[in-house]
Amino acid sequence: MNTMQKDILSYLEKIIEEEKEVARSGEIPDYIEAVDNDDHGAVSVALTSIDGTTVRAGDYEGRFSLQSIAKLFPLALALMDHGSEEVFKYTGKAPTGNVYHSLIQMEMQEKEKPLNPMVNSGAIVMCGLMKGTSADEKFERILTLARELTGNKELTYNEKVYQAENQDLNRSLFYYNRHNGYIEGEFEDVMPVYWKMTSIEVTIEELSNMAAVIANYGTCVQSGKELLPPDVVTTLKSFMVTCGMYDESGAFAVEVGIPAKSGVSGSIIAAIPGKLGIGVMGPDLNKYSNSIAGIRMLKKISDKWQLSIFSKN
Ligand code: GLN
Repeated sequence: MNTMQKDILSYLEKIIEEEKEVARSGEIPDYIEAVDNDDHGAVSVALTSIDGTTVRAGDYEGRFSLQSIAKLFPLALALMDHGSEEVFKYTGKAPTGNVYHSLIQMEMQEKEKPLNPMVNSGAIVMCGLMKGTSADEKFERILTLARELTGNKELTYNEKVYQAENQDLNRSLFYYNRHNGYIEGEFEDVMPVYWKMTSIEVTIEELSNMAAVIANYGTCVQSGKELLPPDVVTTLKSFMVTCGMYDESGAFAVEVGIPAKSGVSGSIIAAIPGKLGIGVMGPDLNKYSNSIAGIRMLKKISDKWQLSIFSKN
């Protein structure tokens, strides 16, 4: 480890110490508490720069489920399968003002498509739209992509989390969107894909590897292989800025200024184009269902190295 990496590490260790308590100051969804991530005290951070080096701190050996971070996968695959024009016949591009599993906007505007691919209804529609003749085939494609992006060929999903994900609210979003013509497949061809992908388990370093590919316009920072087309990554980052933190996306853009996507496991993926991928994990969530400590750590990192994509640097 060179001097610069040592300095980065000591700063990351400092913020982990500062955030440990705050990380337990909110709430965890009941079903996540019951099944995910044995150690709910885990707080961790990893940075992977586009030259391929990673610095990590905190409880970096723990695994946690991706939850809504996985929504990036079916969006990327649907874009690669069908192109942007076709994909956005099925979801909008608008930020949300409601909770992530909301039905209200589609109900208020008759037969309206989901607001965007980062809310549950939009992600479920993307799981229907991406190519694959069965749920197994679609999930295999997602898992293959996830393995490439994280660099872990053995990556898999957590069966207990998967079982716990099977809940009525998301079932209703499937049927509502199918009723409106935005999904063609059967329930068993689509919903297992959504539930399994949200149950894929990663370490914080794997999350930051994935972030680094997004930061590096789709090319793996270690192998130099193109894993996602650059135009697809542009769309992913745009949604990360506008919708990635749900109805906290505006505040997050102002305070932190980094394209990011959160999951209810307490994890957040963040990517600074041309520079750095970041993974943060802190279990408890705020009222927007985003990680309390995760956001605080990202703010500190952004401020320390002036990483906001909107600032002069
Ligand atoms: N498993 C969650 C759900 O579909 C994912 C949501 C999230 O991480 N915000 O309800």
